[in-house]
Amino acid sequence: MSSALPSSVTVRVPAKINLELVVGPLRPDGYHDLSTVFHAVSVFDEVTVTPAPAWSVQVSGPYADLVPVGDDNLVVRAGRLLAERCGAAEAGPALVHIAKEIPVAGGMAGGSADAAATLVALDHLWGVGGRRDLWDECAAELGSDVNFALVGGTAIGSGRGEQIAPVLGRGRYHWVLVPSAQGLSTPTVFAELDRMRGAEATTVAQPRPGESMMQALRSGEVEALAAALRNDLQEPACVLQPRLREVVAAGQEFGALGAVVSGSGPTVAFLVDGPEGALDLAVALTASGVADEVVRAVGPVHGAHVVTSATP
Ligand code: ATP
Repeated sequence: MSSALPSSVTVRVPAKINLELVVGPLRPDGYHDLSTVFHAVSVFDEVTVTPAPAWSVQVSGPYADLVPVGDDNLVVRAGRLLAERCGAAEAGPALVHIAKEIPVAGGMAGGSADAAATLVALDHLWGVGGRRDLWDECAAELGSDVNFALVGGTAIGSGRGEQIAPVLGRGRYHWVLVPSAQGLSTPTVFAELDRMRGAEATTVAQPRPGESMMQALRSGEVEALAAALRNDLQEPACVLQPRLREVVAAGQEFGALGAVVSGSGPTVAFLVDGPEGALDLAVALTASGVADEVVRAVGPVHGAHVVTSATP
């Protein structure tokens, strides 16, 4: 009954980093087959939905100026898609407020995270009934990283990244993230990889999860994970933003156990041995002037989940 439905719903959703990203051949449809290990970290956006006369978006937080507020925001596409598919009588337009803490165009899937949060929030607002099958179906249409943001944790992504298989592991890891003031466009980074691969771009092997990565995650040993970090997009991202090489080298010099560019970059993720190591590295990176901004985080954390449901 509509009288029992909430008047607004807030969902918290994490950013991701990629512990491993193996890029396969360029497909005829322009995408690449991927094998990736997603890892949800404790940097969160909060998405609040409230019924409204028309679809609209508001954004607050340090990166608000970088986020589009029109129909091109992924949250509006998510809302319209769920409304079309769910069949709920209450599925009308909403105001979507994004409290944004996830760096924009940073390879941390912030837009995808917001889209996932919107699916979960509107499901509750409209009383759809927690239809995970429907969320997954909509998520796969919205983008490669949206399905993972629904589940969080640590998971293998295959296909374009939308097919998710959770990885059971015992580790809890500490990270220092260095976002960049200047974003990188995901299609541009893939295009640079294809350029670097030249004639081999369509014939490289089908991507598979690395055995050393799987063993590292099963063992929970931080040194093993550090050694297994891998990203095929790291070199193209460094070609496009040469400064990233300096950031990676400085972090390693200052004691990080491992370093990897996240997704298509430019955020660099450093793995450290605990909260004190994270603080030491964060201080060293900022004091030396290598990084303007650093974020300490832990992972894995849960995917999109309701934090507030207000009643009328
Ligand atoms: P990925 O790792 O999935 O490639 P990303 O973290 O590099 O993503 P996003 O932060 O998701 O990049 O943003 C990419 C672009 O998407 C932005 O430059 C922005 O123009 C657009 N965009 C659309 N909706 C959103 C949103 N809700 N939040 C952030 N960016 C959005």
